Amino acid sequence: MKVKDRVAIITGSGQGIGKAIAFALAREGAKVAVTDISGKEVDTAKEIKALGKEALPLKLDVTNYLEAQNVAKKVYESFGRIDILVNNAGIYPFKSFEDMEEKDWDRVIQINLKGTFNCTKAVLPYMKEQRYGRIINISSIAGTFVGFSNLSHYCASKAGIMGFTRGVALEVAKYGICVNAVAPGPIETPGTQVMSEEAVEVIKRAMPIGRWGKPEEVASVVVFLASEDSSLITGQIVVVDGGYTLQ
Ligand code: NDP
Repeated sequence: MKVKDRVAIITGSGQGIGKAIAFALAREGAKVAVTDISGKEVDTAKEIKALGKEALPLKLDVTNYLEAQNVAKKVYESFGRIDILVNNAGIYPFKSFEDMEEKDWDRVIQINLKGTFNCTKAVLPYMKEQRYGRIINISSIAGTFVGFSNLSHYCASKAGIMGFTRGVALEVAKYGICVNAVAPGPIETPGTQVMSEEAVEVIKRAMPIGRWGKPEEVASVVVFLASEDSSLITGQIVVVDGGYTLQ
């Protein structure tokens, strides 16, 4: 029980990596606020409760700062503290830079980068008061370590998350709050299922481990960063990519 009685908020946790993170934290003893824009947070929370764990479904569009503040307030009122925030909500709509319009760019930056700002800003007062907190930002190898075609907006947002992680980590270390990022490589999720069979195969061949990653393989790293085992780690990025960026 690595995060026993800790209270966690996970954004975009109705499916995919976020859902796996919510399950993993709950299994390790945390009370989890399952938040998402899609409505799927309700089913995810039900599934977690069916395991005998505590889960609270809350609708949260991370681009809406007021909504983020309300979610933080509700979680605090329900569970009495906020220990862990996982900024997971993110989108990756493929588009060449040539075809990309201002609205495409703005949407990705709003959700991936500004959403991370909004939720971090909303929980920090509670974490500061407690003098304890763990913030884990889901970045990507895209942008931070390698380029990906047709994802220049996404690459910019994910590299931005890394800069944000380092900057905030420095400011809040004195309150006992650690801020880290995880950079997954290709992971099989509902989001990546829109890719063509050919693209899926090309990526598989580029993976030294010979397969795509699983959401649970990202979730286990998040659990470590959310636990007291990682007390001396802050402002860092952990690559979880099966060796993709080694070549
Ligand atoms: P999915 O698309 O499978 O799931 C993302 C969830 O976030 C969906 O439920 C989605 O809802 C929700 N969401 C979308 N917009 C918002 C918003 N404005 N506010 C709150 N929730 C929102 O994504 P993945 O699980 O694949 O990815 C999760 C994170 O991991 C993302 O940040 C992604 O960039 C990152 N990542 C993923 C990789 C991968 O290969 N899968 C690799 C590297 C990083 P809806 O379905 O309604 O849009």
